[in-house]
Amino acid sequence: MEVNLEVPSCNPYQQALQNFTAAADVLGLEEDVRAQIREPERVLIVSLPIRMDNGHVRCFTGYRVQHNTSRGPAKGGIRFHPQVTLDEVKALSTWMTWKCAVVNIPYGGGKGGVTCNPKDMSMGEIERMTRRYTHAILPIIGPGQDIPAPDVYTNSQIMAWIMDTYSMTRGYLVTGVVTGKPIGLGGSLGRNEATGRGVFNTIECAATHLRMSLKEAKVVVQGFGNAGSVTAHLLDGAQSDVVAVSDSRGAIYNADGLHIPKLMLHKERTGSVVGFPGSETITQDEMLALPCDILVPAALENMVHAGNAASIKARIVAEAANGPLTPDADAILEEKGVFVIPDILCNAGGVTVSYFEWVQNEQHLMWELQEVNSRLEKVMCKAFAEVLEIKLDRRVSMRTAANILAIRRVVEATRLRGIYP
Ligand code: GLU
Repeated sequence: MEVNLEVPSCNPYQQALQNFTAAADVLGLEEDVRAQIREPERVLIVSLPIRMDNGHVRCFTGYRVQHNTSRGPAKGGIRFHPQVTLDEVKALSTWMTWKCAVVNIPYGGGKGGVTCNPKDMSMGEIERMTRRYTHAILPIIGPGQDIPAPDVYTNSQIMAWIMDTYSMTRGYLVTGVVTGKPIGLGGSLGRNEATGRGVFNTIECAATHLRMSLKEAKVVVQGFGNAGSVTAHLLDGAQSDVVAVSDSRGAIYNADGLHIPKLMLHKERTGSVVGFPGSETITQDEMLALPCDILVPAALENMVHAGNAASIKARIVAEAANGPLTPDADAILEEKGVFVIPDILCNAGGVTVSYFEWVQNEQHLMWELQEVNSRLEKVMCKAFAEVLEIKLDRRVSMRTAANILAIRRVVEATRLRGIYP
C-alpha cells in the first residue's frame, strides 16, 4: 500500500469521533449512552442568496449545528472560510460540547459556518451575508437556546450585525444572543484576548508541571490571528523568545526572537507577518522543525500531520486552534513524549469569557478587566489540574484525559435528565 505522507486527508469529524471513542472506551461507557451523545442533536443547512456589489446574486451555503444541549444552551462560534464543510462544522460543534464541559461552564456545544472567502468580499457584502445567515438560523438561536460567537475570520462587528438582526425581528434589544460583541454594545472587557490568554494560562500550568521556565523558552507560533498573536504577546511578556511565526501567506524566523509588538503592527498594516524587517522567510514545515521548547499551532485543523509531526522538537505543544493535530500526528507526538495541551482545554479561554459576557448581559452588569482575567485564570488552571489528575491516574494522554472529564460531565447531565417522552 502506498501512503502519501504529505497530504493530510483527515476528516475532522472522523477525528472527533475517534477521540470520543478512545475516551469512552477508557470510561467503559455503554453503547446506549454513547449513541445518545455522539452525534449532533440538530443540523441546519441554509442557502443564502446575496446581492453582490457588482449587481449579481451569489448563493452561499451556511450551517448551524447543535451537537449537545444537555448541560445548557448550545454555544460556539461562526466561521466564514472557503474550507467550511458540514463535517467540519459537526466536528467543531462536537469539540465545543467537550470544551464547555472541561471548563465546567453551563453550556452545550454548537458551531456555525458559511463557505465563503471574506478576504475577497466588501464590508457591505459581508454585512448582507451575515444578516441573511442570521435570519436563516433565527428559529434555532437565542440567549437560552444557542449563542453564537466569533471564530475564524469573524469578529466583533459581525457579532454586532447578528445581534442587531436578531433584535430587530424581536422588537427589542437582545444582547445575550451572541458573545464577542464590541465593548460599546454589551461586549465584555477581555473577550477579544481571552482565547490567547487562556492558552497562555495553560502553558504556564504545563511549564510548572514540567518544571520548565518560560523565561528564554523558545516559542514557535503557527497562525498569527487572534489566538496566536495574543499568545505570542503574552509569552513575549513572560520573557520567552518567540523565534518564528506564520500566517496563511508564509512563515518568518529570527533566531534571537521576533519583536512581537512591532510584528503585530506590521501585520495590522500589511495584512501579513511576511516581510517583517529583520526576519528571514522560511517554509511552514521548516518552521515546525525548528528547535524550540513550545509550539503553538493556532491556525486551522490538520496542520500537524504524519508528514511533519516527527520533525517537531518542542516539549510542549499548545493547541490554540481546534483540531490542529491529526490522530496520526497525535500518536507520533505521544510516542516522542511531547506534552500536548489538547484544544478543548487549551483554547477554552475564549468560550469561558463568552460565558462571562453572557452572564454580565443577563445581569446588566459590567465587570472590570482585572476581574475577567483573574476569573479566567482560575477556570483555566482548575480545568488543567483536573485533566492532569486524570492523565496521571489513568495513564492516558492529556487529550484522552480531557475527553474523559468532559464526557463524564455530559453523561451525568444526560442521565439525570432522562429520556423524553
Ligand atoms: N470560536 C471559539 C471557540 O472555538 C469561541 C466560541 C465561543 O465563544 O462561543 O472556542
